[in-house]
Amino acid sequence: MPQEVLSALREIVGPDQLLTAPEDLIPYSFDGTAALQQMPGCVVFPRQTEQVAAILKLAQRTRTPVVTRGSGTGLSGGSVPVPDCIVLCLAKMDRILELDRANLTLLAEAGATTQAIADAAAAAGLFYPPDPGSMKISTIGGNVAENSGGLRGLKYGITRNYVMGLEIVLPDGEVFFTGNKCVKDVAGYSLKDLFIGSEGTLGVITKVLLRLIPQPPAKKTLLATYDQMEAAAQTVSDIIAAQIIPCTLEFLDRTTIHCVEAYAHVGLPLDCEALLLMETDGHPAAVEEEAARMAEIARRNGAREVRVARDNAEALRLAAARRNAFSALARVSPTTILEDATVPRSELARMVRFIQAVARKYQLRIGTFGHMGDGNLHPTFLTDERNAEEMHRVEAAAREIFEEAVRLGGTITGEHGVGLAKKPFLPMQAGAVQMRVLREIRRVLDPQGILNPGKMFD
Ligand SMILES: Cc1cc2nc3c(=O)[nH]c(=O)nc-3n(C[C@H](O)[C@H](O)[C@H](O)COP(=O)(O)OP(=O)(O)OC[C@H]3O[C@@H](n4cnc5c(N)ncnc54)[C@H](O)[C@@H]3O)c2cc1C
Repeated sequence: MPQEVLSALREIVGPDQLLTAPEDLIPYSFDGTAALQQMPGCVVFPRQTEQVAAILKLAQRTRTPVVTRGSGTGLSGGSVPVPDCIVLCLAKMDRILELDRANLTLLAEAGATTQAIADAAAAAGLFYPPDPGSMKISTIGGNVAENSGGLRGLKYGITRNYVMGLEIVLPDGEVFFTGNKCVKDVAGYSLKDLFIGSEGTLGVITKVLLRLIPQPPAKKTLLATYDQMEAAAQTVSDIIAAQIIPCTLEFLDRTTIHCVEAYAHVGLPLDCEALLLMETDGHPAAVEEEAARMAEIARRNGAREVRVARDNAEALRLAAARRNAFSALARVSPTTILEDATVPRSELARMVRFIQAVARKYQLRIGTFGHMGDGNLHPTFLTDERNAEEMHRVEAAAREIFEEAVRLGGTITGEHGVGLAKKPFLPMQAGAVQMRVLREIRRVLDPQGILNPGKMFD
């Protein structure tokens, strides 16, 4: 990285907010995605929007690529550096700026963690529902840039449904705020929606204005176990068809159950094929009724056992089975590749069967869990990136899974984004015209292509 650029960055943020030593750069050379790593030229930690703007102006002038980063928990390689880039890490812009009780909104800097936002809302008796599994460390800027989902997506929606406004720094350093506290606003194109899910390729998000909702007064948690995977999938379809919208409807297969039990000791039966975690919340009477109906549907589909949590402590323990799934799977093999193929809910049983068949065909260990109520599955390859022959089989198997998801009317990614990992598959889903529109939008906002080059598409 040219000394001129480093000196200018030092001027902008101060010497202690710039990392250049190789040993300091290593933690910023990868994100949560397996088998992707690249050392950056430097890492810089701005504290204010004006510093972000100055950094982008410098990058524009010197044609230096910039990779924006939150906490680096991404699962599609979005914040993996490109060679000689500036990693613009927003993690220190983490203040919660305002909680407006009259308008039920919260304004935060982009580096605030999702958990800090949920906690601030809860302290005011309010609720910020999006809860990605990584919420203790993921940043709200990263959540917006990936349009992240979570365990409560089925009933409450995803990050996009809570974003009311964004402060954006464009690649040329210009700053603007799009959106406001109005529940309704149709003035012009909805630019905030363009930046939600833009994966750091169109601008840098520096502030986020979020919608909060009232806390649901009651909640019930149920866990159903099955001898057949398809019975669990059918339970999900039947619950949706019965017009019950639980806040959580999550699924674990046998491989995942074994890994979770070894890791978290929840007391799960090890001889079952699948389990469903179901949660309903809202008015106490409605919660009682929905819980009873879901238990009945689960039993009708042959659930071996339906456990209803007696209190909050037991509810948390049961929910831990699902919240720990990724970490539990990640312990058992050197490389864990987590995909998020998603299908319409009517196709769930077919997709689960297909993933099992692919695992057999390529002789691979695949643990599957996920947000089944959203049709969002996480087939997770337990593999070893040092084994080139096995990695070829993983690639071929993943491709077949994506092709099947698209064939069933689904998507290559339900929540983790395209980044580097899904880039080869995007044209298959988007088609030529949509790819052209995506590229043209990018060219208008970032004509020099300095922001996250090579991500999403070339
Ligand atoms: C254990 C675990 C569980 C997870 N569970 C879920 C889950 O349930 N649901 C889900 O959707 N995801 C999940 N994820 C994926 C990941 O946590 C999310 O994508 C998260 O939103 C990323 O946030 P981050 O701050 O770590 O962003 P990073 O990984 O640092 O960046 C992600 C992308 O956003 C861009 N970006 C980051 N900040 C900004 C900004 N301020 N402005 C512009 N672009 C920006 C980056 O350039 C990159 O392209 C999980 C990951 C892990 C490791």
